Amino acid sequence: MASLFIEPGPGQAPGWLGRHLVSPRINLLPADPIPLRACAASDPPDAGAVATLLCLGGAGIRQRWALCMRQPGGLHLNGQPVFLGQMPLRHRDEIVLPGGRRMFFSTERPAVITPFPGADQPVSCPRCRREIEPGQPAVCCPGCGVWSHQIPGYLPCYAYEDTKTCPACPHPNNLDGSLTWSPEDI
Ligand SMILES: [Zn+2]
Ligand SMILES: [Zn+2]
Repeated sequence: MASLFIEPGPGQAPGWLGRHLVSPRINLLPADPIPLRACAASDPPDAGAVATLLCLGGAGIRQRWALCMRQPGGLHLNGQPVFLGQMPLRHRDEIVLPGGRRMFFSTERPAVITPFPGADQPVSCPRCRREIEPGQPAVCCPGCGVWSHQIPGYLPCYAYEDTKTCPACPHPNNLDGSLTWSPEDI
């Protein structure tokens, strides 16, 4: 699931405000204390909205989002002014609203243990090389999308012993629900 990290506004507590993007259409309203408002495609145009965040489909780390402009000028994406049209959003993109409030788009999600759903082809675990059977507890790595076993006491392959990363990529393999990236890393 994608998230936005929003710079606090005047009078708000310091620290980035994290918001999960649970609605597929979200208007950006620079004048609002939390400048996001979920909307439906059938809603009348929102006069205060400078742009709309649109989910283009996909799930998990493959979910795709775009920034769709509603009013020309004033909004910056990664330091460049955006006028009209639709721009794809990528992990860590910076959006600056008219008035200067900053926010960062993130597609990171925490690693979670779920029953392996199965696939068209047999899938082998990158740690133990054995096949992952449908229904076995496993983790789909948020960094690379590769599945590994995570069966405590038997095949704890994703978060194996003292390893710090996924067996298939450098993504941290913690399973405490925390995200590894926030704007403070910039
Ligand atoms: Zn394994
Ligand atoms: Zn990985």
